[in-house]
Amino acid sequence: MTYPLEPDANEMHRLVDEAMQRIVAHIESLPTQPAINVDGATEYARTLIEPLPREGQPFESLLDFLFNDAIPRSFNAAGPGYLAYVPGGGLFHSAVADLIANAVNRYIGVCAAAPALVQLESNVVRWFCEILGFPGTAGGVLTSGGSLANFTAVVTARRAMLPDDFLRGTLYCSNQIHHSFQKAASLAGFPIANIRELPVDDRYRIRIDALQDAIARDRADGWTPFLVAGSAGTTPTGAVDDLAEMARVAREERLWFHVDGAYGALFMLTERGQTVLRGIEEADSVILDPHKTLFLPFGTGAVLVRDAHALRRAHSSHADYLPDMQEEDGLVDFCEISPELSRDFRGLRVWLPLKLFGIEPFRQQLDEKLDLIAIALAELRKIEGIEIVAEPQLTILAFRLVRPGLSTEQLNDLNRDLLARITARKRVMLTPAILDGVFVIRIAISSHRTHRDRVEMAMEDIRAEVLRYE
Ligand SMILES: *Cc1c(COP(=O)(O)O)cnc(C)c1O
Repeated sequence: MTYPLEPDANEMHRLVDEAMQRIVAHIESLPTQPAINVDGATEYARTLIEPLPREGQPFESLLDFLFNDAIPRSFNAAGPGYLAYVPGGGLFHSAVADLIANAVNRYIGVCAAAPALVQLESNVVRWFCEILGFPGTAGGVLTSGGSLANFTAVVTARRAMLPDDFLRGTLYCSNQIHHSFQKAASLAGFPIANIRELPVDDRYRIRIDALQDAIARDRADGWTPFLVAGSAGTTPTGAVDDLAEMARVAREERLWFHVDGAYGALFMLTERGQTVLRGIEEADSVILDPHKTLFLPFGTGAVLVRDAHALRRAHSSHADYLPDMQEEDGLVDFCEISPELSRDFRGLRVWLPLKLFGIEPFRQQLDEKLDLIAIALAELRKIEGIEIVAEPQLTILAFRLVRPGLSTEQLNDLNRDLLARITARKRVMLTPAILDGVFVIRIAISSHRTHRDRVEMAMEDIRAEVLRYE
């Protein structure tokens, strides 16, 4: 009797070796792959719909299909030319960690099931707290990404600040905050109308006067303000709110201070970042995305909470069929502090690269990105007609091409066209933002694979395409 679902030693080697050959070739060719390759990709996707397979087919043919057909038809989010949205790259070492974690398949939802492995993941959370300057009382949990981290934070704040009947609770943020914050509030049970999206200043940071006015008005009207959310790097322009001022308002008003640092918080590793992010260490909760600015593969976010007990109060829930939960400080059951029970051992994919290299190469990468965006800014300024709409506060900037005599609508069309032409060169992928009805082009530099040569390519392509609009 043979069991195809249980490969023997030779078969395991063969599977990994054959996959590795494709993976290495793929990663080594990233710099010459197109930055975006989705012409006809959705039509192609539709041709893949098929019934439940009744019979198997050779591994090699499946690898051919994946690496030759399915994978290439995408945004090349792993490549150096991905300056779109918020890049991360994807460390290969984390992929190796995932192979180990999935192959040994230990259970880390409860501490008793694998205490040492749970401790490794807890260490990762502690290290993130240390990077932020959080006190020893802080704790947190790794999530699948920023969205689930925002959700966990809002639920924690709701539990800490409001009664069970919480529908008078109101939340405050700028109109530039990532939509996952509104989604988190909505999933946490708040009507969208309870979220106050406030105006921003000329650098796209929340207006503190508007924040104070809104809180005062709501109190007068019988609402219960309970949470103010700052952005440590917005998606459209990378703007960082004045976090120190927001912390002060939150303190004076006795509100929970949350910071969305999915993109920006890890810049606390750099001196320049620490200056821009001053005040983040005063937050009650912060989210960050290692799958962005720690260059990990997608599927790794984190929420950190100043008072670790608050997380547990919001998420703890008893079941007799589970092992005993840890009561001593220093040990943690992830299921007690998060919405999840069974899940992947995602901590290993952070732990392995940090233990292999220490933090220094990560700091150095983020410093390089800060230098690169400064180069991009200086080069864009030299191009006739380019208007810098948002200077970089971290490593995202927004610009547009302006030609005299055109209306906003015409300029929007022109810039939409310009963006399409730059991207059609396939060396870099850029994405747009709409700011007050104005179409702008963003450059976001945050992948460990993006270096000076790629920024120069971006500038060459922008310069060449701008010339068409003389
Ligand atoms: C990416 C991002 C999010 C959402 O995180 P996911 O990991 O995509 O779920 C939230 N806020 C900001 C500022 C982001 O950049």
